Amino acid sequence: MGIKKIIMCHKRSSCIGCGSCAFLAPKNWKMNDEDGKADLIGGVEKGDNIVGIIDEVDLEANKKASEACPMNIIKL
Ligand code: SF4
Repeated sequence: MGIKKIIMCHKRSSCIGCGSCAFLAPKNWKMNDEDGKADLIGGVEKGDNIVGIIDEVDLEANKKASEACPMNIIKL
């Protein structure tokens, strides 16, 4: 039985760099030193969004990050 994976989506262009996601889910998010926005670790650009895959064990932390995001740009 494998670990369940969850697809995450980040509309990075609208990120205001508040840091909530990196604080709540540091395994999957880090703040970018260059432009101050959040990076979804391991994410790839797909059109307007950054898309990445997280493990089920990280779901709760990322749900909190999604709920905390003031721009509502983290979807899972
Ligand atoms: S919580 Fe939202 S606005 Fe704040 S840094 Fe993360 S993605 Fe950007």
